[in-house]
Amino acid sequence: METVKLNNHVEMPILGFGVYQISLSDTKRCVMDALETGYRLIDTAQYYGNEAGVGEAVTASGIPRNKIFITTKIQSNRNVTGLIDASLEKLRTDYIDLLLIHWVMGNDLATYRVMEESVKQGKVRAIGLSNFYGRDFDNIINHCEIMPAVNQLETHVFYQNRDLRALYKKNGTYLEAWAPFGEGKANMFKNPILAGIAREHNRTVAQVILRFLIQSDIIVIPKSTHKERMVENINVFDFSLCEEDMRKIEALDKNESLFGWY
Ligand code: NAD
Repeated sequence: METVKLNNHVEMPILGFGVYQISLSDTKRCVMDALETGYRLIDTAQYYGNEAGVGEAVTASGIPRNKIFITTKIQSNRNVTGLIDASLEKLRTDYIDLLLIHWVMGNDLATYRVMEESVKQGKVRAIGLSNFYGRDFDNIINHCEIMPAVNQLETHVFYQNRDLRALYKKNGTYLEAWAPFGEGKANMFKNPILAGIAREHNRTVAQVILRFLIQSDIIVIPKSTHKERMVENINVFDFSLCEEDMRKIEALDKNESLFGWY
């Protein structure tokens, strides 16, 4: 698995497995399938209600804890230490590899400061943000001690966040794509440009999408509950897109959310 080096030198797989909208009862099976398939980055959140399933799968897999990278996300509240400890317990681990603030709540700088403390205490290896834009992002980076290692944002071929990527590069914050397939919206899997490129490479549209994002230096966390799709989605490291393919896909960018959130 290819990795990226975060701004604090922690290595993170560039491709992982997302577990949003997977029920708690299904999570253990899905994460075990993903680990068996070769995924080593699992992306969960307190909001998903399935951290315990991730913890069970990681423990049951027999894979050494330090070979698996776990991301979880919290929402700001008055007891951030309590939130972090609750995640550690559900995930059955002594440390979280990457902890993110899930979305802007208003008192996020205070939350972020507690997260910085948790890095110093060894409970968390890297910290970052999710769904932070504009002034909210600036408020953290202008006042923090530890720069966010990532900002996890809706990112896919129709919403590529090219300007933000250039901006983040300056302080070493990685863009991590949530919904790299846009959850299949806007007929993404049937797009004729993507389908044409996929045919040329004898690949699937899903593989072309992930390859494009990875070649753009974006961390991706596609989700599927089907093992054959997990296999398909991880098999993107044995081919590459040429400059012309990349330009064609870049031209699909509408710079607009498919979810109407931003
Ligand atoms: P996604 O874009 O990964 O789409 C997932 C859907 O695509 C699947 O349910 C399936 O229907 C389809 N799919 C997957 N592989 C396929 C394949 N090979 N061929 C055809 N169809 C395929 O959507 P997502 O789950 O929303 O996003 C991925 C992960 O990002 C989540 O699981 C979660 O971990 C994270 N996420 C984070 C936030 C956030 O606010 N930070 C929001 C949404 C998602």
